[in-house]
Amino acid sequence: MKYFDAHCHVQFPEFEEDRVALLSSMEEAEVGGIVVGVDHDSSQRALDLVKDSSTLFAAAGLHPNYTQTKEFEVDAFRELLKDPKMVAVGECGLDYFRPEDVAGAVGLQREVFLKHIELATEFQKPLMIHSRPSKGTQDAYRDLIDMLKSAKQEYGDALSGNVHFFVGGIDEARALLELDFTLSYTAVLTFTHDYDEVVQFAPLSHLITETDSPYAAPAPNRGKRNDPRAVASVVEAIARLKSEDLEKVRVDILQNVHRVFKIPSVSL
Ligand SMILES: [Zn+2]
Repeated sequence: MKYFDAHCHVQFPEFEEDRVALLSSMEEAEVGGIVVGVDHDSSQRALDLVKDSSTLFAAAGLHPNYTQTKEFEVDAFRELLKDPKMVAVGECGLDYFRPEDVAGAVGLQREVFLKHIELATEFQKPLMIHSRPSKGTQDAYRDLIDMLKSAKQEYGDALSGNVHFFVGGIDEARALLELDFTLSYTAVLTFTHDYDEVVQFAPLSHLITETDSPYAAPAPNRGKRNDPRAVASVVEAIARLKSEDLEKVRVDILQNVHRVFKIPSVSL
């Protein structure tokens, strides 16, 4: 495997028509990854999809945007997480972006996120965290950091994880790095300079690549459906921003994936 897309949704209906072809072209391009669930159904579908693959893995969780409409059934998620192909708990976390959310939503999101933290430590699997602040603020990151800090006191090294699609600033990055969490970036690095400083600030040992496909397509395809092969452009962007050798960045990121998600090095 040459590249790793730590967060994609190739089980989504957007890929229904050409999924088989896409998966084989990912194999050809030596792109592996984690197929991430956003609720129980999509987590189950992720697991079904990766079962026979040596380069694809899955994650199970309830996305914070669904906490108001879907029940978080802990035992059903436990069943999924028993499978060794499940390498992370999530996506889960706090999303304060949606303006239509009512006050009670935040409390519920925190409650459900805490249950994910408990599951992650129970199964000794890392968290795949989604955290999105409301416009112009870092509110969701501040709450996330508070929650992770107190969880770290309770669980110590049993608590680990990656903050996906990181859009925080240097202060938020520093706090998460102190907790030994990694940050993952998508191909938005190819068309915005918003995150340049943070990518330069964070040590390469704590950066991971992802695409969040079908979302967040890179520069030439903006607005179109994205797919995991775009992860190569994220490696390039990180190497450019850090003025590091492309091959070193590529290999270091695979090592991070191996460490954080316990992906067997044989499949890397
Ligand atoms: Zn996602």
